[in-house]
This record gives sequence, structure tokens and C-alpha cells, in this order.
Amino acid sequence: MRILLASAEVHPFSKTGGLADMVGALGKALAKAGHHVEIVTPLYRGIRERFPQLTPKDWRFDLPMGNRRVAGGLYVAELAERLTVSFVDQPGYFNRSSIYQENGRDYADNAERFIFFSKAVVNLARYQLQPPEVVHIHDWHTALVPLLIQNQSRHDGWRHAPPTCLTIHNLAYQGLYPRDVFALTNLPANQFNHDGAEFFGQCNFLKAGLATADALTTVSPRYAREITTEALGHGLDGVLRKRHARLHGILNGVDYDEWNTTRNPHLKFSYDATDLSGKAANKEALQHELGLPVNAATPLFGTITRLADQKGIGILLGALEEMLPAGMQFVLLGSGAPHFERALRELAARFPDRVAVRLEFDQGLSHRIEAGSDFYLMPSVFEPCGLNQMYSLRYGTIPIVRMTGGLDDTVIDVAENPQRATGIKFQEYSVPALAKAIRKALVLFENKPLDAHYRRNGMAADFSWDATLTAYAKLYRELRGK
Ligand code: ADP
Repeated sequence: MRILLASAEVHPFSKTGGLADMVGALGKALAKAGHHVEIVTPLYRGIRERFPQLTPKDWRFDLPMGNRRVAGGLYVAELAERLTVSFVDQPGYFNRSSIYQENGRDYADNAERFIFFSKAVVNLARYQLQPPEVVHIHDWHTALVPLLIQNQSRHDGWRHAPPTCLTIHNLAYQGLYPRDVFALTNLPANQFNHDGAEFFGQCNFLKAGLATADALTTVSPRYAREITTEALGHGLDGVLRKRHARLHGILNGVDYDEWNTTRNPHLKFSYDATDLSGKAANKEALQHELGLPVNAATPLFGTITRLADQKGIGILLGALEEMLPAGMQFVLLGSGAPHFERALRELAARFPDRVAVRLEFDQGLSHRIEAGSDFYLMPSVFEPCGLNQMYSLRYGTIPIVRMTGGLDDTVIDVAENPQRATGIKFQEYSVPALAKAIRKALVLFENKPLDAHYRRNGMAADFSWDATLTAYAKLYRELRGK
């Protein structure tokens, strides 16, 4: 089948979070399975320098944006057999120092940037020699695509327009803007309505997609249930309940070609479940790299995260305050909200022998933390899928997670199944509940046979793309058959 994937970020070209990992890996897995895949994504600054194999394609965009027209070009890279990545080149919109924001502030024209990108996706889907049979879009940035396609197929002579699938990676980010931005879509004004993009008088990109895409998916079964409730529906639970029959929860897979401990260029020492001595060596190297006392007997807790309320940084700071004196080390790699960055810097200053904080984005270090930590902390308020807990399992690092979304779907607590336990789960979103979970980890760490049992179980858990791929391929076939 010919499949077009469109996303604002795609690993290894651009990434701020799990969206990039998922789309990159989905494209790869689909192509490997014999499908013809084109991933469309913006050409951000630096991509051409880092990937010299990109070549310009003979393709010009000249797209209406309200009452003016905006031009753009296209670059392509053949990543693998049947896998092409197309980069939409519009320097005014995309040649910037960052993807969405600078100094903690979103770019003021994000709505415009991603309307242009969405129109470019539709243009490619419509006019390419070999048009896609399914268009699969991701998150709010491209969520206007189904509405744009629907409009062109109903009113603008596009016969046999492809069906669309929208994956929700995080319902909290919706692309909510003043209603005026709708004019930039050049859709008829009467299409700004309650059954589409209109949301309490504002323009909501994601809502437009939720209302019009032929299929909706989200990235774990539990999150699929949660987002139809008022508690976790972020105001869109009503729309999702209406479209419930079209909503599928498909757990993301892990790209084990990248996330593994046996052939990983980011790790100094390789290891597997039969011999964890390489893990111990990685821990030592990590402690050394971070300037923490090098000591195998001190449990090291890691986390790699966007610093956003969603990730539970609030209770994490409180629980660390309580638990650090009990004899643990903690490393955090992440960036985001300035008040969290400040609080973490202060924590590191107060506990220099126990806490290391790296406020940056560093792919290599993220692998070294996964490999060198004993435990991984993920106390999210909500978590659509979460990838790091799955990476942790493969790296023999025991995840401590809140029972929500994909975290609940992928980690097994001793209370659920003592034989198969892989991690520690807690329910209540509170400092004492997280502190208690950390205390359990410290006890587990002292019980070497049990600790090893958890690590072995985790390393044996399989979240490879096979099951995910089968589910998406089935969905695409159903869509095409419609
Ligand atoms: P989300 O998409 O909500 O940010 P996920 O757990 O789904 O959360 O995915 C996060 C991805 O981003 C993981 O691959 C994680 O390792 C990576 N990541 C997050 N922050 C950083 C950082 N500062 N440096 C390197 N990788 C990071």
C-alpha cells in the first residue's frame, strides 16, 4: 500500500519528544513490511547540514494563505527501500533556531506555519504521480489535513481523495488559536462550525481533525479510554465520545535497532540479560561523567523528560526532597518550564553529591542514563504512551511509574503479578505516594535476587513494532476498503 505519514517532527531529523520517535519508527517498520511510505515533515534549520544526502526535488508549492500566496520547495531523502522522507522547505517558517518555541515562548505564527505545512501535505497527496492510498497525520500540527482534503474532494474536483487517519500523541496540545487564523485555511467561512474547528469561539486544529478524520488512533489502549472521560478529555471528550467507534488505542512500538544495549554506539559497555556486568560498568561511567560519587552500592535514579506539568515534576521535586537523604542518587536530563529548571538547579546545588541535572537535549546522554541508572522515574499526571519506561525495561532499568495511560499498560507491578513484575507502580498523584514508591525501590535494590528478577523480566518484555505494525496495517486496509 502507498502511505503518506505527515508529522511536525521525525527522528532522526527533528525531535522534541515521543512523536518524532514514533513516526520515524512507524515509517521504517511499514517500509520493511513492504509498503511504500512517504514521510512529509518540515525542513528545519540544520537538517540539510546534518544529512547531506537530501536532494532538491522539482516541486514548487504556491499555496494560498488567506489573501496572499506563499511559495515553498521540497527536498527528499531516500532513507531505505520504499521509504522516502520529503521535507517541506519554507525558510520564513521553518529556518529557525528551534521547532516550536524560543526562550520558553511559542512562535507567534505557529498557527500559520502549520497551516502552510498542512496545505503542503495535501498538495503532495493530491498531485503526486503516485498518490497515497492513505494519509496518516499526527497531532494538532497536521490535524487540519482531513478537513482540507474533505473540502477539496467535495467542492474542488478531487476525485478519489485518500482516507485519513489521525493519531493523537497528546490530547493536551490542541493548536488553539483566535478564530481569525481560520481565514488562513482559505476554507469557506461557514465551515468554521461546531462540527469542525470551532471550539468555544476559537479555532482548534485538533478538534477539526477529531471531527473529520476517517479513523482516530491514540498511542495506548488505556489512554484511548481515558480521553473519552471528562477528567482527561481536555475539553474534547465529548467529540471523542461521539467518534468512539472510530477511535483505536494502539500501543507504540519500540525501535530496538536504536534502543538496545548490545550494539549501541552511545554506550561504552554492552550487556544483556545473561550478564549485567556491562550495565554496572555503564553506571560507573555515568556517575563519573555526571560528577557524582562513583559507587555501585548507591542506587541511581534517572529521568529524561520535557519539564512540563504533565510529567509530574511537581511531585518529583517534593519526593526527592524527602528521599535524597535516604541514600540515593538522581540524574535528570531535560528542559522546559523555567520555574522547573530553576527548582532543579537549586536541588542540584543543595545536594551536589546526590543530584546531577542537565538542562539540555542530548540524545547520547539519554541512552547513557537509560543504561547507567538502576531505576527510572516517570510520575506523570497523564501519559498517552510514554516511551522511556519501555526503553528502561529493555535497558534493565526498573521503571517507577504512575498508573496512568501507557505507563499502566506497559509496566507490571508485583501486586498484579509477582512472577512477571517489571516495575513499581503507584496510583495517587501525590508526594507521599511517589516517596513511598521510591522507598520500595530502595528496599528492592537491597534484595539482590528479587532485584535481578525484575530486571530480567523487564529485559525480556517485548514491545517491538510487530504488533503495532499489524494493527496499523489492518486499520489502513479497512480505510482503503471504505
Ligand atoms: P513526550 O513525547 O510526552 O515528551 P515520551 O516518553 O513519549 O514523552 O517521549 C520522550 C522522548 O523524548 C524519549 O525518546 C526521550 O528520551 C526523549 N527526550 C525527552 N527529553 C530529552 C532530552 N532532554 N534529551 C534527550 N532526549 C529527550
